[in-house]
Amino acid sequence: MEPIVGIDLGTTNSAVAHLTPDGPNIIPNALGGRLTPSVVGVDESGVVVVGAAARELQVVRPDRCAALFKRHMGTDKTYTLGGRTVTPEELSGLVLRSLKADAEAFFARPVTRAVITCPAYFNDRQRKATIAAGRIAGLTVERILNEPTAAAIAYGFHDSREDKKLLIFDLGGGTFDVSVVELFDGALEVRASAGETALGGEDFTRAIAARVLEGFGTSFERAEVTTPLLVARLIQQGEVAKCRLSREETAVVRVPDAAGEFTAAAKEVTVTRAQLDAWVSPTLTRIELPIRRALADAKLTRDEIDEVILVGGATRMPLVVRRVRELFGKDPHRRLNPDEVVALGAAVQAGLVGRAGAVEDLVVTDVAPFTLGVAVVKQFGGDVQEGYFDPVIDRNTTIPVSRVKQYSTVAPNQTAIRVRVYQGESRKVADNLLLGEFEVNGIPSGPPGQEVDVRFTYDLNGVLEVEATVVATKRKVTHVIARHAKGLSEEQVRRAVREMEKLKAHPREEAVNRFLLARAERVYKELAVEARRVLGALLDGFEAGLESRDPEAIGRHREALQHFLSLHDPDGENPTGNEE
Ligand code: AMP
Repeated sequence: MEPIVGIDLGTTNSAVAHLTPDGPNIIPNALGGRLTPSVVGVDESGVVVVGAAARELQVVRPDRCAALFKRHMGTDKTYTLGGRTVTPEELSGLVLRSLKADAEAFFARPVTRAVITCPAYFNDRQRKATIAAGRIAGLTVERILNEPTAAAIAYGFHDSREDKKLLIFDLGGGTFDVSVVELFDGALEVRASAGETALGGEDFTRAIAARVLEGFGTSFERAEVTTPLLVARLIQQGEVAKCRLSREETAVVRVPDAAGEFTAAAKEVTVTRAQLDAWVSPTLTRIELPIRRALADAKLTRDEIDEVILVGGATRMPLVVRRVRELFGKDPHRRLNPDEVVALGAAVQAGLVGRAGAVEDLVVTDVAPFTLGVAVVKQFGGDVQEGYFDPVIDRNTTIPVSRVKQYSTVAPNQTAIRVRVYQGESRKVADNLLLGEFEVNGIPSGPPGQEVDVRFTYDLNGVLEVEATVVATKRKVTHVIARHAKGLSEEQVRRAVREMEKLKAHPREEAVNRFLLARAERVYKELAVEARRVLGALLDGFEAGLESRDPEAIGRHREALQHFLSLHDPDGENPTGNEE
């Protein structure tokens, strides 16, 4: 049977995994890395690069690259890349296409089916954007799975005979999710999820860059406009320093010039772990509200949580671990690699979809992350007020779920009502998100109070079907939000697929060379004159080798270049950016 893969489509990094009889396994990318940076770029020759090579390119040519686009999935934001306008869905599609190619190389056969994860807090539109991204990449998305649920599945898979209440604490590059999950008798039930779509490790990296700039009397916001190359390079330096501060007490940040280069006069700023802690501490307090909300929704206290599981690269920061320990009064648990656990869980779920023998016993349930309901009018005395939200499915109800509520007409001889469907937590619909609306006609004339049943059915993919029934006549009107909600239309997806086919990409076996070239170009700018000359000659040799297409020459020059870089750029060794 064709393999179904599990994909963690992350803000910063993505990963693909599959289920084996011994459990889930990460599939390595063309560079041998287990994580693929979610960065897309277009190089000088107009060729698309994805992953580590794009992340290198981003340092020297931020204008040719796009990153963090997951934060804008399902919005109207567009990016300009190599003279083309692209959407976050298309960019995610390119990342997925690269992971698909890695899986195909691994299995030596086509891979067209996947389970893809997204933050629990993604709304309907963002989930559909994720499905569209999959389709743009040529994947059938079998299931959209919440990231913390995936992490719990990975743990449940290994742990399934224990009865426990877990709190999954997932702090990634750009999103924070917290979920309360119950494990019992081999079953896994998500009791509640909450989170923030704009909080993560990138904020801490930016904090370092901003504070270093402030030290020189410049604001980050201003520098982003006036010296974008300096900022891009400083962020890269901040990222390396941040990761180093997870292991060591101090790290040095070099400050590039306006062109993003390091001259002999480049200043160096030493940052201590205590300083970093003080800088990010105020931002980190934003984790507390979602934790309180998830616990309240699950009707649990902190003391009732048996284990806290850390997920996401940013949980490697000692401050984060300490904060979690203070909040829960116990050491957080991190048996599985926090960068990989979501992809591993997705692979288990993919096995479940494909009915692989290894997971037959596992029962998985999930929750609706938002309250779903309709707009209603309220009568206060003789006064009719519009725009109130009436919940039909409460936040954190276990899905799949189907609920029905009865509504009635408010005016004499009212023969139609408009059902407007919203998601959100506010009393007034104006503050919630409109998912869709439709008209129900054919209500018999008569006094106010003619009844209409409205049924909401929410499935495991987060797709909502709303059915209205006129009670007197049994007339039904059904509206599937999946098909009608805003998002990419069928035609837009088809167009995106056609556009993608036109994009030039290097063959997969070229990935190592492309990454090496991009990295060497970055390092070149960082070096002092003497070393720069040596690297220049090595790069010339490598490019001539590539030009000659002679495998022996390519291999020889590549080795020389790799050796030089290992001495002059030890922090850039790992193409995944994953420190461990
Ligand atoms: P994820 O979205 O889970 O891949 O997490 C990526 C985030 O984790 C990025 O902001 C990384 O900078 C951060 N990260 C990865 N490794 C470390 C580390 N050793 N120390 C601090 N942050 C890290």
